[in-house]
Amino acid sequence: MSARTDYDVAAMLADLRAYTCPVLGCEAALRSGRLMCSAHWRRVAPELRSEVFEHARRQTRIARAYDRSSGRSGVVDHVNATPDQRRLIAEWVQAEQDLHEVQLRAVLCADERSGRRPAA
Ligand SMILES: [Zn+2]
Repeated sequence: MSARTDYDVAAMLADLRAYTCPVLGCEAALRSGRLMCSAHWRRVAPELRSEVFEHARRQTRIARAYDRSSGRSGVVDHVNATPDQRRLIAEWVQAEQDLHEVQLRAVLCADERSGRRPAA
């Protein structure tokens, strides 16, 4: 078990790719699309949970705008993208970074509220 001071977005994404709850000491399996197990998600501050959803919705809205612009679904053409599509791609990438940062804050919040955070 690693010290939580080292825990960052990359470490969180590794946990998510392994479908394991990223909260310290939790080995619960995750369903696809989940950030953490339901027991830990309930411990996250409500305003932080809302923030996670807001950021995820923002990313979805950008992806839909791109799909409308390109006339295709889920296909990103970096080579032939119009200026408008390039802007949407850049916005999507930024939205993803923002989402990951707020997700990390939610995981650390669940850590703290689970009382399993190691002494600093
Ligand atoms: Zn958990």
